[in-house]
Amino acid sequence: MSLTNTELHTSLKKIFGFSKFKGLQENVIQNVLEGNDTFVIMPTGGGKSLCYQLPAIMKEGAAIVISPLIALMKNQVDAIRGISEEPGIAHVLNSSLTKTEVKQVKEDMTNGLTKLLYVAPESLTKEENIEFLRSVTISFVAVDEAHCISEWGHDFRPEYRNLKGIINRLGDDIPIVGLTATATPKVQEDIIKNLGMTDAKVFKASFNRPNLFYEVRPKTQNVDADIIRYVKQNQGKSGIIYCLSRKRVEELAQVLQVNGISAVPYHAGFDAKTRSKYQDMFLMEEVDVVVATIAFGMGIDKPDVRFVIHHDIPKSIESYYQETGRAGRDGGEGHCLAFYAYKDVEKLEKFMSGKPVAEQEIGNALLQEIVAYAETSISRRKFILHYFGEEFDEKDGEGADMDDNARNPKPKEEAMEEVVKLLRVVKDTNEKFKTKEIVKVLVGKVNAMISSHKTDEKPFFGIGKDKDKMYWMALVRQVLVAGLLKKEIERYGILNLTQAGEEFLNNPESFMMTKDHEYTETGNEAVV
Ligand code: ADP
Repeated sequence: MSLTNTELHTSLKKIFGFSKFKGLQENVIQNVLEGNDTFVIMPTGGGKSLCYQLPAIMKEGAAIVISPLIALMKNQVDAIRGISEEPGIAHVLNSSLTKTEVKQVKEDMTNGLTKLLYVAPESLTKEENIEFLRSVTISFVAVDEAHCISEWGHDFRPEYRNLKGIINRLGDDIPIVGLTATATPKVQEDIIKNLGMTDAKVFKASFNRPNLFYEVRPKTQNVDADIIRYVKQNQGKSGIIYCLSRKRVEELAQVLQVNGISAVPYHAGFDAKTRSKYQDMFLMEEVDVVVATIAFGMGIDKPDVRFVIHHDIPKSIESYYQETGRAGRDGGEGHCLAFYAYKDVEKLEKFMSGKPVAEQEIGNALLQEIVAYAETSISRRKFILHYFGEEFDEKDGEGADMDDNARNPKPKEEAMEEVVKLLRVVKDTNEKFKTKEIVKVLVGKVNAMISSHKTDEKPFFGIGKDKDKMYWMALVRQVLVAGLLKKEIERYGILNLTQAGEEFLNNPESFMMTKDHEYTETGNEAVV
């Protein structure tokens, strides 16, 4: 099925009431209508749902939408029913339905009334459901929040792992539409591999949010006072403050209240009624601020959140991007402020220490990236976008001046010779070490890994002794962002030379580096 642009616009207007497509939607929808496998990567709020809803309504049969959260499925079903006169147009199929409800779903599906059937992955594994779905026409399967497939995503769900096998059983050559807001190359690769979508057309939107201002401040013992001051200066604006623990959420909400700020706490320890009460108070603007754990936010669509503060550093750049992404959704001001102390990183490491080894290694690799983000003194936007595999021009790109580092640049210094030393060490150690070992080799320090490879006996051992560890860590990060080195994520961060890195070695040129921020124990930035 293929439609002209005019036909497609007419349907968009008639069904959804929108006058134009957002971003890549039109191309995505054409591809889905043509029956091809499609992979959609768009940031939250980008308009992913429409990419499968519109073709589902237009195509023959019903589309199966796999989604991890029952609450979100219900919202979507209600929204679709709201724009149609046929209540059977969308259904949820899950274990919470009564027998009568299941009967109704099956009847509507069999009669061809249903165009969208939302299913949780665990319901899809049930034999009786598979049997039933085999008997009806399925237009395509949409896998929403597809990053749940990957252990490298921020929300791994083992049930997502077996989807491909089940989809194969539903019928022959059913097209698959994968959708995610996770942009890291490793997660994308996992999704494509796991869903067997190597031929899928990939549509990736930019993850740049030019209206968001990124800032990191050192976290001191006075962090609460800092937050109070900030909120008071921004009185009347809506904001979210994220804390790691439920206890801290409650304490901080109370401290804010005592200081005359209208705030509510939110975490998964409250019962459903209390949670929805606090959530509604925030959405209806009865309070300005919600202090929350990461339990808050999924599916929250408040367009005018003006700030997102992280009282504690999150566990990965992806989480940070998702959480800060809730600011400025209307395109207006959005301040993303993180308080950072290395102590918090150690706390997160301790949290992970009880987990299986593989999970710990993944967790640590992700954590190192957010540490690098906090400590970097280059454009934060460039840093985030590089993490998501996207180039960003820190001089002329959209939002180039929207972060603390861009506004207060640190002096730069020539580092051509040091880059050559760094690249040489990576190459001459046969590309088998992570940053930690490479830096040790440069400054001439040994650990078990280094001595087991006898690297400490090599002539280049200690070649960068004249600079300290912090200097080299900063340089590695900047050389990574510049694309001269790359990290092998599968091997938890082993450094490799890129083609550009090889060329640099053959033909070195100027490389201006900025020193990273260095935070002291008390949280102030050290004078260096
Ligand atoms: P995502 O799933 O990518 O986070 P949604 O599908 O929830 O994004 O869409 C975000 C918002 O954009 C929703 O409020 C939706 O109604 C709106 N939207 C989607 N497509 C369009 C469009 N073509 N025109 C106007 N608004 C749109």
